[in-house]
Amino acid sequence: MKTDLSEKLFARANTLFPGGVNSPVRAFKGVGGTPRFIARGRGAHLVDVDGNDYVDYVLSWGPLIAGHCAPEVMREVQEALREGSSFGAPSPKEIQLAELVRERAPWIEKMRFCSSGTEATTAAIRVARGFTGRDELVKFDGCYHGAGDPLLVKAGSGVETLGLPDSPGVPADVARHTLTAPYNDLPALTRLFAAHGATIAAVIIEPVVGNMGVIVPRPGYLEAIQALCKHYGALFIVDEVMTGFRLGTGGACGLYGLRPDLVCFGKVIGGGLPVGAFGGRAEVMDRVAPAGPIYQAGTLSGNPMAMAAGTATLKLMTPAAYALLEARGTALAAGLLASAAEAKVPVQLNRVGSMLTVFFTSTPVTDAASARLASTKRFGAFFHALLENGVYFPPSQFESAFLSTAHSEADLDLTLRAAKLGFAAAAKIEV
Ligand SMILES: *Cc1c(COP(=O)(O)O)cnc(C)c1O
Repeated sequence: MKTDLSEKLFARANTLFPGGVNSPVRAFKGVGGTPRFIARGRGAHLVDVDGNDYVDYVLSWGPLIAGHCAPEVMREVQEALREGSSFGAPSPKEIQLAELVRERAPWIEKMRFCSSGTEATTAAIRVARGFTGRDELVKFDGCYHGAGDPLLVKAGSGVETLGLPDSPGVPADVARHTLTAPYNDLPALTRLFAAHGATIAAVIIEPVVGNMGVIVPRPGYLEAIQALCKHYGALFIVDEVMTGFRLGTGGACGLYGLRPDLVCFGKVIGGGLPVGAFGGRAEVMDRVAPAGPIYQAGTLSGNPMAMAAGTATLKLMTPAAYALLEARGTALAAGLLASAAEAKVPVQLNRVGSMLTVFFTSTPVTDAASARLASTKRFGAFFHALLENGVYFPPSQFESAFLSTAHSEADLDLTLRAAKLGFAAAAKIEV
């Protein structure tokens, strides 16, 4: 596979950007090698600047649930652009998307659009603190909620890959208000509440974790957290930036029957354009400026092109579309497991719908500690064999792979042929 142009561009990029990239996980630090520079995406495929074609399981890290350049999405975005790229004043497209969101997730009584998932989680936490008059925040070891200061404590995603559990530059005075608990460990959270219940403003959680690889909540776990929050007067914030409109019409909250106080969105809700949103109970959201005193704002918030992309994407995501994703997910998971067994490589495959991770470990992965037992060396060998054979998996053991409605059976066949070589390569690595 020729990669000359990617290598040349990466050398230039390294003189311009820290690590050559504008977001850490793109740099292939978790797997080694040179990141591919992408020329274009179509459907489930990426084409790099050297002309190599890949079946894409990154999908811009989740947003492109209908694939690259879905015609309906492109048409709506282009039509919106013709009318003007930004107004800094209300426009009807914000209402269109918001009504779609509330129709699918009626527990979101009111919402606010912003431009990224990080903005959404940062604002949701400020709102929870402003609403409760409390400072403490609870998050879970390995959960990633964007790059905001109070959330860069035991965060997953790129922080996990790079081994920076706490980032320099986050003041200790800020970090000390963030309490952490292991994921899937209800007794630990119960103890935390017993000790700090009166000062906890909110619990924020990835309902299905994607950012230490996919981790599935134990039955009843999320519901129990919701009940604990209610009991102690803390707000329950479900971070659906990754799972929202991906795991089903109502996201993870719909799937598990949750009724949180606040929900954060990003990724799919923007259909590949920069969008975030937070929303929930009207009583809480009415404390946000200008209705209330808790400040939040954004020059490009509710951007018309981004609203158009989100609306068009959500409209494509019918129950039939989710059924297709589930079928593709089931087939891909079964194929990967069979292939790993054939190569005699012990793996754990965690999947919910169109999110999945193959962990190179023989013990079940249920939290950050068990995820860290996975062999990143074996994952690296698997990843590079896939890449060489036309399959673009997330370049880190601690990320989710995503399916789109554009992935065809032929794409899955190609993927499983490459995976055979990938597991064979992983088998050669001693652990
Ligand atoms: C991606 C992600 C974020 C951050 O969103 P950005 O748009 O990258 O700022 C927050 N929370 C979760 C669960 C995510 O997966």
